[in-house]
Amino acid sequence: MADLETLGSNDSKWLGAYRDVHMNVFGTPLRVMDHGEGAHLWDVDGNEYLDFLGGIAVNALGYAHPAWVKAVSEQAAKVAHVSNYFATEPQIELASKLVELAGAPKGSHVYFGNSGAEGNEAAIKLAKLYGRTLPGALPDIGGKPARILAMTHGFHGRTLGALSATWKPAIRKPFEPLVPAIEFVEAGNVESLQRAFNETGLGRYGKGPVAAVIMEMIQGEAGVVPLGSDYVKAARNLCDRHNALLIIDEVQCGIGRTGKWFSFQRDDLSGGITPDAITFAKGVAGGFPMGGLIAFGEKLSSLFTPGSHGSTFAGNPLGAAAGLATLKVIEDENLLENAEQRGRQLREGLASLDNPLFVAVRGRGLLDAVQLAHPCAHAVADWALQRGLIVNAVAPNALRFAPPLIITENDVNQCLEILAGVPADLPDD
Ligand SMILES: *Cc1c(COP(=O)(O)O)cnc(C)c1O
Repeated sequence: MADLETLGSNDSKWLGAYRDVHMNVFGTPLRVMDHGEGAHLWDVDGNEYLDFLGGIAVNALGYAHPAWVKAVSEQAAKVAHVSNYFATEPQIELASKLVELAGAPKGSHVYFGNSGAEGNEAAIKLAKLYGRTLPGALPDIGGKPARILAMTHGFHGRTLGALSATWKPAIRKPFEPLVPAIEFVEAGNVESLQRAFNETGLGRYGKGPVAAVIMEMIQGEAGVVPLGSDYVKAARNLCDRHNALLIIDEVQCGIGRTGKWFSFQRDDLSGGITPDAITFAKGVAGGFPMGGLIAFGEKLSSLFTPGSHGSTFAGNPLGAAAGLATLKVIEDENLLENAEQRGRQLREGLASLDNPLFVAVRGRGLLDAVQLAHPCAHAVADWALQRGLIVNAVAPNALRFAPPLIITENDVNQCLEILAGVPADLPDD
């Protein structure tokens, strides 16, 4: 066996090779990982980590869940890809299951893509087709482009359409001009939304009608910032009044993450509101790249016709089998309830840590964050990583928790125990 002391770690060797061949869009990876099991990961040097990030809210079942491995292996041995000239059983079953779990009405339809951004691209294209049916919009004579309203601090992905609806100027501005007629309103501010709707009008100065409002129930990338129930209800009402679609981006919040199948089903909306469309991805296939869009009802769904949209891999049977296995395990192992209970344990535990660094806790289910007394989130995450805990510096002053939905009471206690010891005077990032 080679002497690691003299050779340097496997990790640093691989990191050098990583930098040689990868575009530097992600910065330097924190570790080079080798394998995982349950909520634990091991790096190439054999160090073990308790994972409270879950591949960014993706690994709902943790790593190497036997049911998931079996389903993916069996499907791989059967048929992995056929293109959309053909259909497969897993894809059909997954689409019906998602419509059922979303409580979407009869006539609702699914479009599969391969990521969250692609789900949102599909939603934006659908909203554009819908916008063209509104009076005063293109292609009427003298019509104006129908608009899409997105939220400040919202995140919808990196492709050009999804990026056009993504707030963070640092990642959006360098690529402007982007898709026109997508505007931002202040998240959580009903007047701001109302004002944007009121700008619709005839004549030279009025804008085109609003085709859609797109929002997340909890703004994950912004630092796990929930939208209030009054705001969500007001947005639903305004959309109804102006014939605009309400599109909920469930990419991060969906698939059990917040303790409900989808976050719009949350209790403080008295059982939920009905969106016109939702997008999903991250957790849906437990680690296999998959995402998509559910359009609620026949009328909206039928705006997509052959040629409107597509993707070679869309609805790929391997991904669909992974998705079916993921949803089944979430059901069989009561993981919605686990997300609810472990989430509460985590938030209450964080709130009662006797550490002046942790000043406030927020989130729902297993999408949570703790606010820090000063902007040292990266230093805290690095400190925790050294001690075998993966947490995410989602903002300079906030740590995000999005662990696998299978985590146990003991895992949460272990996480809290490590965080209890974080020095409060770590340097700012
Ligand atoms: C992650 C995320 C996306 C983008 O998903 P990708 O799979 O990275 O393209 C879109 N919306 C939300 C809310 C997300 O959290």
